[in-house]
Amino acid sequence: PARPGVDFIRARIQEDNASGRFGGQVHTRFPPEPNGYLHLGHAKSICLNFGVAREFGGLCNLRFDDTNPTKEETEYVESIREDVRWLGGDWQDREFYASNYFEQLYAYAEQLIRMGKAYVDDLSADEIREYRGTLTEPGRESPYRNRSVEENLDLFRRMRAGEFPDGVRVLRAKIDMASPNLVMRDPTLYRIRHAEHHRTGNAWCIYPMYDFTHCLSDSLEGITHSLCTLEFVNNRELYDWVLDTLGVYHPQQIEFARLNLTYTVLSKRKLIQLVKEGHVRGWDDPRMPTLSGLRRRGVPAAALREFCARIGLARADSIVDYSMLEFCVREHLNAYAPRVMAVLDPVKVVIENYPEGQVEEFEMPYHPEDPSYGSRKVPFSRELYIERDDFRQDPPKKFHRLSPGAEVRLRYAYFITCREAVLDEAGNVLELRCVYDPQSRGGQSPDGRKVKGTIHWVSAAHALPAEVRLYDHLFAVENPNAAPEGKTFLDNLNPDSLRVVRGLLEPALGEGEIGRTLQFERLGYFCKDRDSSPELPVFNRTATLRDTWAK
Ligand code: ATP
Ligand code: MG
Ligand code: MG
Repeated sequence: PARPGVDFIRARIQEDNASGRFGGQVHTRFPPEPNGYLHLGHAKSICLNFGVAREFGGLCNLRFDDTNPTKEETEYVESIREDVRWLGGDWQDREFYASNYFEQLYAYAEQLIRMGKAYVDDLSADEIREYRGTLTEPGRESPYRNRSVEENLDLFRRMRAGEFPDGVRVLRAKIDMASPNLVMRDPTLYRIRHAEHHRTGNAWCIYPMYDFTHCLSDSLEGITHSLCTLEFVNNRELYDWVLDTLGVYHPQQIEFARLNLTYTVLSKRKLIQLVKEGHVRGWDDPRMPTLSGLRRRGVPAAALREFCARIGLARADSIVDYSMLEFCVREHLNAYAPRVMAVLDPVKVVIENYPEGQVEEFEMPYHPEDPSYGSRKVPFSRELYIERDDFRQDPPKKFHRLSPGAEVRLRYAYFITCREAVLDEAGNVLELRCVYDPQSRGGQSPDGRKVKGTIHWVSAAHALPAEVRLYDHLFAVENPNAAPEGKTFLDNLNPDSLRVVRGLLEPALGEGEIGRTLQFERLGYFCKDRDSSPELPVFNRTATLRDTWAK
């Protein structure tokens, strides 16, 4: 897939720089709400905001948009910091919290009241919705809309002081109940919530709404370009109204399309449900589209950055094919992953003419094209395991692997010829009786004789048993969000998204570090999991070697 050229956001920033708007400065922010773990959609926003800042010699803030005390937690703040750092976002000392602005935001709200631009409304949430009208029908003004400045100030202060229970009053902007833009029909700025906040504790019982908080946070931090997703297009008018009415520094909001991906969901609400209802093993389950899940699965951060660069930016929503992500993962790992050997569906090979009790070691490079990866010693002996699938009793044409009478190369070791297969009554292979050619040490034949197949193997006496987790798409359908009447996205879960097998690894894998992704030759990319114990290493399959989904 081709990489796009300059996108519309970078083009606008170039124009702003050329015209001297914002004094040629570029200052962006990544503003997650700490109400869940970050997912691939956030990766797009992180790469965009931090990428733009880096490319234009500017800055990018990490700002926690934490104005909703009942949904936010410190655990989420910490996971977000870890994930952004992992992806390469560098915010240095520019870590901000909307909750740090509560006092300042409150002062701005009083200023709007004094300007006659905000009022305390006693309508209930349902009534406010009803009074708002629709796209075809203008809204109606609240009977409380024309309260005096003094009364509004008094009520707002009493809201802050905790005199009223949740939901009985709100502060609203006084804009235009007939605006064609529903967002502008006297939007709510503050609501009462007697709830403990993960940072401010019980200092506040009124909390500012997103549309009031976000623009002012951007303004206070000196953001130049406030990049957000398309669903905020209609909110831009309010963003501009708040800043213009208060007469404060005014960043430019620019919207881009959210990332949607086939075979998964990218919505924190749905991801929370998967975790809380136990459909997955946690936020970092390797099947999850969360950054922590992808990391645990063995996806390198660089592959995600490449993915974000390739999908580019658009002004219209679309759905990206999951195979595009896998393409980027494979491309990166093919270049950088060390090669090792493991057998996931073992069948025993006995080399009849190899001396019993003898063990020799083969020095194998970790990367065929890059000697800097070094090498390790791999033991070889009379009894080995190979992949069951590498043997056929009755081979089809062009089957270049093992069958009775056929000769193959054991990777980096010897040529072997299969004499016979020992079968059980049902025809299952119990073991393969083979002979080797001692002259073919290192996998070369002295007489120039050719063998077409090279297969991987492990020495039976030295192999390490391991649990290997093979993953498939978490959802069985391309668009899990589309569920028929009476069903939900959960009905689209793939019941076979995890298959666990017992594999046999070459011994060097016992020491491998957790989180480093390797290529198991001929099988795919695998990464040691933190569930590993000294007795039983656990590996996650990051990706297969080829796209098995291609039709
Ligand atoms: P969700 O719908 O999953 O709850 P959100 O937009 O509410 O996502 P935030 O924590 O507010 O989550 O998002 C932080 C930033 O990441 C925002 O600027 C938002 O626009 C961006 N973002 C979130 N999801 C996506 C996505 N799918 N594609 C691109 N950007 C996204
Ligand atoms: Mg949000
Ligand atoms: Mg959200």
